[in-house]
Amino acid sequence: MSKVIISVKDLKKNYGQFEAVKGISFDVIEGEIFGLLGPNGAGKSTTLEIIETLREKTSGQVFVGGFNLDTEQNSIKQLIGVQLQTSGFYPGLNLVELIDLFAGLYNRTINPRDLLKMVNLEDKAKSKFKDLSGGQKQRFSIATTLINDPKIIFLDEPTTGLDPQARRNLWDLIKSIRAKGTTVIITTHYMDEAEVLCDRIAIIDSGKIIALATPDKLIDDLVATGFERPKEVKKANLEDVFIHMTGHALREE
Ligand code: ADP
Ligand code: MG
Repeated sequence: MSKVIISVKDLKKNYGQFEAVKGISFDVIEGEIFGLLGPNGAGKSTTLEIIETLREKTSGQVFVGGFNLDTEQNSIKQLIGVQLQTSGFYPGLNLVELIDLFAGLYNRTINPRDLLKMVNLEDKAKSKFKDLSGGQKQRFSIATTLINDPKIIFLDEPTTGLDPQARRNLWDLIKSIRAKGTTVIITTHYMDEAEVLCDRIAIIDSGKIIALATPDKLIDDLVATGFERPKEVKKANLEDVFIHMTGHALREE
């Protein structure tokens, strides 16, 4: 039985005269990885931040875990894990101290070492955030979404700017979080990433959802229109070469 955990109905967001989100509707099913895909400026972050209670909507209805965004924001906040702004990662504190600080904000007691282990950063427990590599920073940022043991986490372009090894490592991390039953909403403009990770995808362009289905269905629908890819003459691409030669192992430590 699939259960709707997030329901968005006719959501609109205006910035002054500008309509950034133009009445979108979608449901997210409990336990899935749901992707919001679209070019820059499509309205992905705006949509995510409204659901996360971080931004006011102009109109429409949003329910998270059955709670109404208009009247039950505090209940919603307890269900969700949000990537904290890295500007909040006080430069003088190490990773364990940062986790303790955030856990305090959430009124939780957790073992920072366990959390760091989960995101493969146990060796960096005493390091400062600013001294981490790009991939490590992203893993730590994802770890902070898990502090309050959320049912849903929101990841806004988590792999932007990472090298191929770090991206794959992050995909594995996101899959392992979902395997524990956490619902994941992710935005990306990398189609390979969406194809690997997402159970369902909404494609959003200029504030409107123009398609919503599984990656397979979207591809099959395109093929059914008679679309054919220019013949693939090579069985690998340059990224395959890169990964084959440099390996999957992380190089950042
Ligand atoms: P995406 O995350 O898909 O790149 P955003 O949700 O960040 O898109 O932005 C959608 C549109 O809204 C863009 O045109 C952006 O310039 C505009 N926008 C975003 N935030 C603001 C804001 N605070 N004030 C005015 N316009 C904004
Ligand atoms: Mg964005």
